[in-house]
Formats: sequence, C-alpha cells, structure tokens
Amino acid sequence: MSDTPDLVVVGSGFFGLTVAERCANELGLKVLILERRHHLGGNAYSEADPETGIEMHVYGAHLFHTSNEKVWEYVNRFTSFTNYQHRVFGQYAGQVYSLPMNLALINTFFGKSHTPDEARALIAEQASEIDTAEATNLEEKAISLIGRPLYEAFIKGYTAKQWQTDPTKLSADIITRLPVRYNFDNRWFNDTYEGLPVDGYTAWLTKMADHPNIEVRLETDFFDVADEFKGKVPIVYTGPVDEYFGNSEGRLSWRTVDLEAEVKEVDDFQGCAVMNYNDQDVPWTRIHEFKHFHPERTYISGKTVIVHEYSRFAEDDDEPYYPINTAEDREKLLKYRELAKAEPMVLFGGRLGTYKYLDMHMAIGSALSMYENKLKPHFADGAALTSGGVDE
Ligand code: FAD
Ligand code: UDP
Repeated sequence: MSDTPDLVVVGSGFFGLTVAERCANELGLKVLILERRHHLGGNAYSEADPETGIEMHVYGAHLFHTSNEKVWEYVNRFTSFTNYQHRVFGQYAGQVYSLPMNLALINTFFGKSHTPDEARALIAEQASEIDTAEATNLEEKAISLIGRPLYEAFIKGYTAKQWQTDPTKLSADIITRLPVRYNFDNRWFNDTYEGLPVDGYTAWLTKMADHPNIEVRLETDFFDVADEFKGKVPIVYTGPVDEYFGNSEGRLSWRTVDLEAEVKEVDDFQGCAVMNYNDQDVPWTRIHEFKHFHPERTYISGKTVIVHEYSRFAEDDDEPYYPINTAEDREKLLKYRELAKAEPMVLFGGRLGTYKYLDMHMAIGSALSMYENKLKPHFADGAALTSGGVDE
C-alpha cells in the first residue's frame, strides 16, 4: 500500500482483524494493520510443531465457543469448525477428577455415590457459611458456591498458583466462569456453539486479512511510526492502553504464562487435552497435550507434544495475558479511560486496549459493534469519529 490508508489498525489479533475485514470488505476502505510480532493473529496464532506436525497454539490453548448467533455466522465465513467439545480433568492428592465440579467429582471426592438431590443438599450445607449475595471476593464467592472442602481442594491451590495473589484480594467474577453441575455433564463450556477451526487458527486468521485493501505490516511497532499517522488518519488501537499513554498513570498489572513444550516418545501422554494440577505444591498449573484437540486428524504415531503451563506476574518484557484487575488497577483504568476519551481520532479496543479478559468470541463481537456503531457511521455517513474512549 503506497498511498495513505483510510484506517490504521494497531494489532492483528481477532479484534483488529475483524475491524479491518469489515472496513475493507463492506466499505472498500484501505486498511493498514501494524503488527509488532513476526506473524499476524495475536494470541490465537498457531503453528505446526516441526518434529511432529501437531498444531500448537503458540500463546496457550485456544478453544472457540460462543452463544452469539451474529458472531457464529460471522466466523463461519472464514473457517468451518470441528465438533470438538472441551473437557478438562484435574489431579489432586494422587487422584484424577472430572472437572468442572460435577456429580462424578463430588462422588469421587467424598468417596460415596450421591443422587443429584443428595449432592445438592450436601454442597448447600457445606456452602452455607457464606451467602453468595454477600461474597465480595473470589474466596468468599467460591466457598458460597461449593463449600470449603471443595474450595480447598480444587480452587485454593490452583488459584494461588495461577494468580499469585491472595484469593481474598481477587475479584469474585473470576470464579463465576466455573460451573457447578449436579449431573454427570462434564463439558467445560455451556455455549450453544463450540469447535476448533478445521484447518487451524492461522488459516482462519490469514483468511480474515486476505483482501486486496488490507496490508498487514509485520514487525512494526506502532510507537516507532506513530508520528506518520496520529492525528492524520483514524486509528483503532488494540495494544495495551497504559502503554499508549506512556504508563503515565502507572502500569496496569497483568499475569503472563510460561509454556514449556516437549516431545514425548509415546502415542498418548495423558489421555486428554488438558489436565489441571490442583495441588499447590505442583509448580505447573496444567499440562496440554495438543494432539487431543484434533482427534479427526492423523498425526505421526509414537510421538506427542505436551506443554507445561506456569503462571506468574508479567514483568516489563513479558506478554500481558490476563488482566489482574485489583482495586488499584481499576482506579488507574478509570484515568486511562478519561485520557482515551480525549484522544482525537483513536478508538481503543480488544483485550489489551480495554484491559478486560475477552474470549475470542467476545473480542470479535466487540469489534463488530465498534464497526457498526462508530466506524461505519463515520466512514459511510460522515459522522464525527467521537472516540468515546475505551470501548466499555
Ligand atoms: P490479541 O490477540 O492480544 O492481539 C493484539 C495484537 O496487538 C498482538 O498481536 C500484539 O502483538 C499487537 N500489538 C500490541 N501492541 C502493539 C504495538 N504497539 N504495535 C503493533 N502491534 C501491537 N479465548 C477463547 O475464546 N478461548 C480460549 O480458550 C482462550 N484461551 C486463551 C489463553 C491465553 C493464554 C490467552 C492469553 C488468551 C486466551 N483467549 C481465549 C483470549 C483470546 O486470546 C483473545 O480473545 C483474543 O486474542 C483477543 O484478541 P485481541 O485482538 O483483542 O488481542
Ligand atoms: N480454577 C480453579 N481450579 C481449576 C480451574 C479453574 O481454581 O481447576 C479457577 C482459577 O482461579 C482460574 C479460574 O477458575 O483462574 C478460571 O479458570 P479457567 O480454566 O477458565 O482459566 P483460563 O483457561 O482462562 O486460564
């Protein structure tokens, strides 16, 4: 793209690609995507392990799921999905349990069979020490939902490893995502649609950018070229919001993960895609075995790749993965939102730009809304590009 683009998108993750695709395809705009990594796709990027050919999700396992019809219709324009359904198992004190909390786990843990009503009554009694409506943090919320014995076995140690923050200082919202079921349903997600992209994530992400009006400029940090575009062209920025403002209000805290991959000379290492390790004294949080994500594929026999996942606070040079979202973070974020509102011709979006944990379908849904509510009215009807700040 030699001439000036109509729109600059910073970051080629699902948020940036969705905005770029809509603006190029529907409005015929010339879109320049700036991406500081050597590849497009953000954290959903995947590639084949060189030794085994097994598709590896380079920044951690990514499972697609949604109940949003609009998002499901949209993503199916770029890829079809397998019928993979995610299930997770967990090890605690030498025993393997079927997660999430369900009747199988309750029966194994308490060493006795329960009918659904018996299990419900047991957990209600164990959870009665705290009223869910009054729970103000993760620990209280979890105990109010599942009782102290299950909390201490399956949540306390895992959460301490994953967040390295006292569970009483973590937001109760984190645990809302963990269902408790009084039946044997052990699907991890409750959504209507679920699956993995048939040809892999990178094929899907590449197809979204495959348009003559879209240029993806890799290994280009926006901050090195910002003067060329700031104030001259509308910008959709999906990098970290604090970084955009030079961390003027202080850095927002993030958690990162370390992923250690190794090839094992066996067909099957653990019999499932994800095994959580709930004991606090096991240093990793979980092991992923990627071949199990695609049972429909024929991979090399006699080898498998496993990935140990470790969690820790992100330092300056680490990838920011999960917003920690302490009270101090929320205060800083409010200040950044004010700054973002005042920033001319820049819209902030995506997981890093909003400092919100967004699943892929949420990032895509939020990008479709930004397109419909802000970008299309501006480009198609001449409406002022009121930034509105960070997309809330
Ligand atoms: P990202 O994918 O992070 O993309 C942002 C891009 O901006 C990056 O490529 C970055 O390099 C680029 N960038 C940043 N700053 C600059 C700059 N200054 N100049 C140029 N480029 C810049 N979602 C699910 O639905 N299911 C899952 O199972 C799931 N698992 C996850 C596991 C992990 C470990 C993580 C971290 C996330 C997971 N997600 C999952 C969430 C999913 O990754 C996000 O929803 C999705 O990546 C959001 O897309 P995004 O475009 O907002 O951000
Ligand atoms: N969690 C837990 N035990 C588990 C699984 C999850 O305590 O076996 C808690 C933990 O606090 C975690 C949260 O539930 O941060 C969300 O878990 P999930 O596996 O969805 O996290 P992600 O895949 O996003 O890392």
